[in-house]
Amino acid sequence: MQELLLIPGPTPVSDDVLDAMSKPVISHTSVEFANLLKETLSYVKDLFGTKNGFPFVITGSGTLGMEMAITNILGEKDNLLVLSHGYFGDRFEELAKHLGIEVDKIKANPGEHVDLELLRKTLKEKHYTAVTLTHVDTSTGVLADVETVSKILQEVSPETLFIVDGVCATGGVKEEFDNWKIDVILTGSQKALATPPGLTLLTFSKRAIEKRNSIKPRTYYGDILKWIPVMEDGTKYFATPSVNLFFSLHQSLKDIFDMGLENYFKKHEDLARRVRNAMNELGLKLVAKRPAPTLSVFLYPEGIDDKTFRGRLKDHGVVIANTLAELYGKGFRIGHMGSITKDELLVAVSKIAETFEELGVKVSKGNVINAFLS
Ligand code: PMP
Repeated sequence: MQELLLIPGPTPVSDDVLDAMSKPVISHTSVEFANLLKETLSYVKDLFGTKNGFPFVITGSGTLGMEMAITNILGEKDNLLVLSHGYFGDRFEELAKHLGIEVDKIKANPGEHVDLELLRKTLKEKHYTAVTLTHVDTSTGVLADVETVSKILQEVSPETLFIVDGVCATGGVKEEFDNWKIDVILTGSQKALATPPGLTLLTFSKRAIEKRNSIKPRTYYGDILKWIPVMEDGTKYFATPSVNLFFSLHQSLKDIFDMGLENYFKKHEDLARRVRNAMNELGLKLVAKRPAPTLSVFLYPEGIDDKTFRGRLKDHGVVIANTLAELYGKGFRIGHMGSITKDELLVAVSKIAETFEELGVKVSKGNVINAFLS
């Protein structure tokens, strides 16, 4: 039985994307590869909503993208302010500390948002080289208000560089690199972009590239100055890209843009609404006050053991994820992004209802299904 993979990344990959990946390997410096890269980078710019930014696609996971953002704009004398809505926001703090960078953090309670007045006050009291914000924190399902944070930065500390992690957002929700005055945005291939894991997509603003030119970066593979010539001309070599993953990303982006990016966002909104209506019917509580369209994080009703519940659901063919950090064991995370269809999610919610019933929760499966379909 083919399992229904509904963890919030990696997400299932459609057959044409898988087929693209199984094409024969070509030279990583061939004209064919260079053309494919050029088209891919043009999609990346549209995805992030930029005309002026400089796009990159690099072999490595989302964490490499985070590390490239930090190492290319924070030198020895620089400092960072992390805005965190959960485990992945916290990762920026861990990463920066690991590199010996001075870092402060404003953290929200699970499901809530960072206090914007506190952000304003913090930015007035101390100058930061950069601020990080995770557009969707995959641990809590919180959708950050990137635009409002950007406005506060423009108002209080316009010289501070703005880094946005879009790993669990890009493709599933609008991102406006130019309008929101973002300096570095990064994402991964394996979530709403419905491509196998292993690629990170980024865009740097002009001033972020200028900042890189003024520091000594604590990275070699991730140094954007090594990659800029390759992104400008794919026949140049710096380090061998995972050619076949690039085939699959290109195919997936082509599919998304053929459908229309706005329609793709709408599909995510629609699926999120249906899943939440169904889970609401089961009496489950959503963690996020402002939930993302890409995934949902729900708390269990009293008396449900996480391992038992997810184990039984897996026996029914549906794989979902556990909650992380402070929420560990208290709930589950379900992805509704990428190539997932309404029919697949309908199967998933009915299996979830059945599993709760098996574990002694009073459930009306019919009502759950109707809530999903309405
Ligand atoms: N940021 C967010 C918001 C994520 O969800 C993840 C992965 N779940 C990462 C960063 C790290 O990405 P990766 O696992 O691809 O390194």
